[in-house]
This record gives sequence, structure tokens and C-alpha cells, in this order.
Amino acid sequence: RPPVLAVVGRPNVGKSTLFNRLAGKPLAIVDDRPGVTRDRREARGRLGDLDLLLIDTAGYEDARDGIEARMRAQTEAALKEADVCLFMIDGRDGVTALDERFAEVLREADKPVVLVVNKCEGKQGDEGLLESWGLGLGEPVPLSAAHGEGMAELYSAVLTGL
Ligand code: GDP
Ligand code: MG
Repeated sequence: RPPVLAVVGRPNVGKSTLFNRLAGKPLAIVDDRPGVTRDRREARGRLGDLDLLLIDTAGYEDARDGIEARMRAQTEAALKEADVCLFMIDGRDGVTALDERFAEVLREADKPVVLVVNKCEGKQGDEGLLESWGLGLGEPVPLSAAHGEGMAELYSAVLTGL
């Protein structure tokens, strides 16, 4: 079985966009309304010369017991299965309160976490990138999942985590 890469993070940061790019096909729904991915999706994918099993997470919006509890449960479930966890934030929004809550869970995880700052094309995410060092998850990888920028750096970071 290939190594499992779980993509976690709050809604609308670009998780499904990266998932589809790595899967090589549009399997997950990309939408600018938060929470459009209703459930977890899995697919085989490729990053550089790495064969991966990808897990896309979402669905927090439907939660009856609140976004935080739901988010925590899904993140913990994904972490259990993952060999490496990719935590994505939106560089244009910067670090939000919800991102901080995610980071708390991930700092306690006994799995390698790669911090990815998405939407960094055209330097729009530079401020968020700097701010993300404060999450305590190591060196952030600037990415543009939509434009495919930063994939070589992502590859190196994931490889280091495996
Ligand atoms: P998810 O909720 O985390 O799965 O996010 P999606 O992949 O559905 O993307 C949410 C929105 O962000 C969509 O409108 C995407 O087109 C947009 N998006 C995703 N990646 C990027 C990126 O690298 N740059 C920019 N500017 N927008 C992006
Ligand atoms: Mg999604």
C-alpha cells in the first residue's frame, strides 16, 4: 500500500484543489462556498515520483455538534490513517482562529505534519506565510494549488516527513 497523505484544514483553503491536482483528475468538488466537500474522499495520487493514497477531508459545515468538535473528530480520524499529514491554510486570509485550533490538534499528533500556505501565487500570501511560522508546526511551504506552484518544495517536505 502506498503511503497515506491526509489533507486537513478549515473549509475553503484549497484542500480539494490540491487533492485533484495530486490525483490528476477532478474527483473532489472545488467550490468557493465553504464546506462543499461533504465527506472524506480517497484516491490514488502522485507527487513527483511518490505514489500516494490521498485523503481529502471536509464536511464541517453540516455539523450539528458544532464546527470545532466535527473538525477535531475528522482531523483525528485522518491522522490515525495518515503517514504524513498536510495542514493547509490560506495565505491571503492569514492565520485565523480556526487555523489555530487545528494547529493545536496537529502539534499533539505523533505524525509528521507539513504546513502548507496556499493561494501564494503573485506574492498575495507573503504576509500569511510569515505569520504561519507562529503556528509552531515548522517551516511553511508556500503553494498555489490552483496554479501548481510550489509542488517541488511540497515534494521535498512530504519526502522528509515519510
Ligand atoms: P477546500 O474547501 O479546502 O476543499 O477548498 P477548495 O479546493 O474547494 O477551494 C476553495 C476555493 O479556493 C475555490 O474557489 C478554489 O478555486 C480556490 N483556490 C484553491 N486553490 C487556490 C490557489 O492556489 N489560489 C487561489 N487564488 N485560489 C485557490
Ligand atoms: Mg474541499
